[in-house]
Amino acid sequence: MTEPKTTQLQPMPDDWRRALAVVAHPDDLEYGCSAAVAAWTDAGREVAYVLASRGEAGIDTLEPAECGPLREREQRASAAVVGVSVVEFLDHRDGIIEYGTALRRDIAAAIRRHRPELVITLNHRDTWGGVAWNTPDHVAVGRATLDAAGDAGNRWIFPELTEQGLDPWNGVRWVAVAGSSTPTHAVDATGGLERAVRSLLEHRTYIEALTSEDPESYVRDFLTGNAAATGERFGGKPAVAFEVFAR
Ligand SMILES: [Zn+2]
Repeated sequence: MTEPKTTQLQPMPDDWRRALAVVAHPDDLEYGCSAAVAAWTDAGREVAYVLASRGEAGIDTLEPAECGPLREREQRASAAVVGVSVVEFLDHRDGIIEYGTALRRDIAAAIRRHRPELVITLNHRDTWGGVAWNTPDHVAVGRATLDAAGDAGNRWIFPELTEQGLDPWNGVRWVAVAGSSTPTHAVDATGGLERAVRSLLEHRTYIEALTSEDPESYVRDFLTGNAAATGERFGGKPAVAFEVFAR
């Protein structure tokens, strides 16, 4: 028997200064994490975003050549709403991002450039829980990020990075996975929730293609509903949940 999901989530570790979020697509962080990011940047912490793709295959009615630059602009605007000014793209191909050494190397290089203590990524498991199937890009990038946290600290895995001037960084203390069906920790979303709504709304072209609902009510219902559900396991405060892997 699995234990009932009423266990309270622990507060996230807060003895860190720099976080790096690594996800597959524009909007991956805004669909749940950005209230936590707002809380962190409010507290003077540095947060940078690295996206494996530009999400160019994400809108059925837009050709990738047109879609990629548009989604990049929307991503930069949504990051700015929660105090993030560094947004980088690794240019893996949206929809067919492959787990493997090329992806691990690119993420390890990003970790060495930014030298974070906390790394954030999105659910790397096959499902979102139950039978809600995850996408292959999220699985690939989540797994590669968990692995690259170790790769970044070992000078003999990807020695070409050291030759490029990227010294090993073995300072990642936690990898926190958002969207996990088995979370362990949470961040109070009270102060950041309104900015999280505005942040997700910056992905307007994507959202308008996704739903016929009014974008603002769709976004607000989604984010406040999730934060309230997480809050049931976090002292009743709206919250963002993470599964934290300590290193
Ligand atoms: Zn995604």
